Amino acid sequence: MNDDNSRALYDRALSVMPGGVNSAVRAAIEPYPFFVQKGDRGHVIDADGNRYIDWVMGLGPLLLGHNLPESVQAGIQQKASEGPMYGTPTEIEVDLAEFVVRHVPSVEKIRFVNSGTEATTSAVRLARGYTGRNKIVVNQGGYHGAQESTLVDGDAENVAPSSAGVPQSFAEHTIPVPFNDEDAVREAFEKHGDDIAAVMTEPILANYGIVDPDDGYHDFLREITDEHGSLLIFDEVITGFRVGGLGCAQSEFDITPDLTTFGKIIGGGFPVGALGGRAEIIEQLAPSGPVFQAGTFSGHPVTMAAGLETLQFAAANNVYDHVNTLGDQLRAGLTDIVAEQAPEYTVAGTDSMFKVIFTRDGEAPSNAADVKNAETDRWRRVFWGQMKAQEVFLSQNQFECQFVSYGHTEADVEETLEAYKHAL
Ligand code: PLP
Repeated sequence: MNDDNSRALYDRALSVMPGGVNSAVRAAIEPYPFFVQKGDRGHVIDADGNRYIDWVMGLGPLLLGHNLPESVQAGIQQKASEGPMYGTPTEIEVDLAEFVVRHVPSVEKIRFVNSGTEATTSAVRLARGYTGRNKIVVNQGGYHGAQESTLVDGDAENVAPSSAGVPQSFAEHTIPVPFNDEDAVREAFEKHGDDIAAVMTEPILANYGIVDPDDGYHDFLREITDEHGSLLIFDEVITGFRVGGLGCAQSEFDITPDLTTFGKIIGGGFPVGALGGRAEIIEQLAPSGPVFQAGTFSGHPVTMAAGLETLQFAAANNVYDHVNTLGDQLRAGLTDIVAEQAPEYTVAGTDSMFKVIFTRDGEAPSNAADVKNAETDRWRRVFWGQMKAQEVFLSQNQFECQFVSYGHTEADVEETLEAYKHAL
């Protein structure tokens, strides 16, 4: 496979950008990332003309695939041609807000921001401002964006920053507990209950997994946060408008969080984040409340158009049936292949998310430590390269999941399963 152009672009990038990339995870591709020229439905074509079946889908935002339906493209182009932005409100922000409020029962009010990181950062500040408390409980190994409060390692007793530049004193306000570990959460509340502003969790660990919650785990989190006057924040940056369709993962689990963070799909492929929830809490954001939050680009008309058109298209067409059916086919096919060729591995996922985790005992992981204990190095060094050589683009590390889009076809699924057979 010729990759001369990608190599040359990477050399240029290395001389002007740290690691040659604008987001750390992109450099996980070895020996260097391929540069994409353009997308085509469920595929991407790189700078050397190689075509890959793309299950990364921009790391999740592209529910509809690379070629957006005409109505979506038209909405985006119209908005881009009109401005593109003004520093004062526009109707389309209200339209998208109303759409989300209509479809996600826990969301009575919403604020749009520009990334998932900004959404979770603002949600943590809001939870602290609303409760007057300092600490947040998060999942060990979970990811809520590149924000100070959650870039931590360790456990409830010994927490430390996971990145240079984060002060130890910041990390000490965060209590990491293993996903699915009710005892650890109970212990955190016993020790710090009156200072815990919120528990923040992905409803399904999608950014470090994929790991499903045990039956009743979210009910338990809802009860214990209520009992102690803390908030429950669902980080639905990945699962939002993907798992459970337009009602999001919380509708699947029948849980009403106090706050929800969104990103990815809600912006239809453009930079976005949002935090929504109970009106009384969201109203604490400036200017109606004392918790400061602002952004030059927030509610950007082009992003709002892309998000609204995407979600309206999904509501009016069989998008979720399509992606979930292909997801079922992928998981079923992979389960057969793994059973035959590598029974120590695990097939994970739901709806339109899927992953083969290189576990050592065929046991579905229960938390991030189980995922970390998988053969992550083998996955990265050997497996990923073999899939790429067969022109299948998978997520760049063992921990991120893969996504089916409306642009994918059954033929993409069949070719991918063949490639897995060879690579495994
Ligand atoms: N929360 C979760 C669960 C995520 O997966 C991500 C990113 O992948 C974020 C937050 C941060 O979003 P962003 O990369 O848009 O800042």
